[in-house]
Amino acid sequence: MSLPRVVAVAPGSPAQRAGFEPGDEVSAVNGHQPRDVIQWQLLTDDADLDVEVRRGGLDLDLTVAKEAGEPLGIEVHSALFDQVRTCDNHCEFCFIYQLPPGLRQSLYVKDDDYRLSFLYGNFTTLTRFTELDLERVVTEGLGPLYVSIHATDPDVRSRMLRNRRGATSLRWLGALLDNDVEVHGQVVVCPGVNDGAVLEGTLAGVLDRYPRLATLCIVPLGLSRYAKEGNLRVHTLDEARAVVDAVEEWQEIFLSVLGRRLVFAADEYYLLAGRPFPSPDAYEGFPQHENGVGMARTFELELLGDKDTATGVHSGFFSWVDGAPAEGYRAPREACLRDQGAYDATDRANAPVAVLTGEYGARVLGPLLQRVGRDDVRVLEVRNEFFGGNIGVTGLLVGEDIARVLRDEPEDHRYLLPDVCLSKGAFLDGTTPADLPRPVEVVATDGVALRTALGL
Ligand code: SF4
Repeated sequence: MSLPRVVAVAPGSPAQRAGFEPGDEVSAVNGHQPRDVIQWQLLTDDADLDVEVRRGGLDLDLTVAKEAGEPLGIEVHSALFDQVRTCDNHCEFCFIYQLPPGLRQSLYVKDDDYRLSFLYGNFTTLTRFTELDLERVVTEGLGPLYVSIHATDPDVRSRMLRNRRGATSLRWLGALLDNDVEVHGQVVVCPGVNDGAVLEGTLAGVLDRYPRLATLCIVPLGLSRYAKEGNLRVHTLDEARAVVDAVEEWQEIFLSVLGRRLVFAADEYYLLAGRPFPSPDAYEGFPQHENGVGMARTFELELLGDKDTATGVHSGFFSWVDGAPAEGYRAPREACLRDQGAYDATDRANAPVAVLTGEYGARVLGPLLQRVGRDDVRVLEVRNEFFGGNIGVTGLLVGEDIARVLRDEPEDHRYLLPDVCLSKGAFLDGTTPADLPRPVEVVATDGVALRTALGL
């Protein structure tokens, strides 16, 4: 177990007044050694703390004068100070097995830790969940949690997870729901494995056994060119349409029985199926927005000016891995690049504009720009050759592919880059916007930010 290491101390905070310095390692707060930032938050929430600190080989006692509930003013190096609980499943569809070699090490970590589910919205299968975990989740109110269901049929689920405990671990889902913990679920649909009758059975199983589940998102299998499993394949058009049909039929059933739709198909399914997105009301508040459910609709509302504020911050698969950020626990993406030597957008106020986006984003964005009367704005679709396969989401774009597209573009245009493909300023391939052959303006990935960038 490591000790929480201070990486930043807020000016004027109780921590600064008490003499904390970056690099300090905290051995105990009021006599307790915290094992993660959840416990850290609880301990440091108290008034007047007695903190044991290691600095340069010396042990110090620092006394913090503060009110109960007043922020301590310290950012620590990581969300977990003990070991992350790694996943002991071997799902054939796991995207970590489909990553190219040579990425930063942290991207290859398979976590299955309820704490990362609570902190970052990562999905957990609950195959390593224990009675003690349940007790902690319930007593500390650690919700919402995000659970990978995939199939409620025990045999199918254990086959998909390649773990015998996959057959039984959904009992923890029942226990969480019985204890009023808010849980959102996910089904990754692999054609020929858990679609068709299996998907119907899963939705029936949710209604029967887990009707208190908050929501369930249905997402298609992502398949990169590095996939090694021969059984996996992408959906055909008919299969994608069948999934959308099943979800919409079950929405009606859930609506009539529970008074809410509960299940939602990811935006990607509507694009694959060539179907219009559901109406904004049908998303019931966009509870799984950060997992790609309803993003196209919120983007539309925001860009058209029907919504003043952007919807949520996205967490998801790649956003947590480098440690605890300063605010909240969902990693920051990137600020404006002016301080990295990129151009000041005001210098190019009248320059032609292009928006960089992935294949799916281009299909949503092009028609919307026409509707706001900006068909002068070019959509620069970036094909994802880095991952290949059917990977078309903007969030997985990397610098190498964006550079390929930008290299042939005029030098004096404005290029807008959605920040969703960045985590702490870097693309997944380790490059940064400063490495691109044209300067870009990083904008938040929502319609409000794009409206502002385009001066609408
Ligand atoms: S549970 Fe998640 S991390 Fe673990 S093998 Fe399956 S997909 Fe990969």
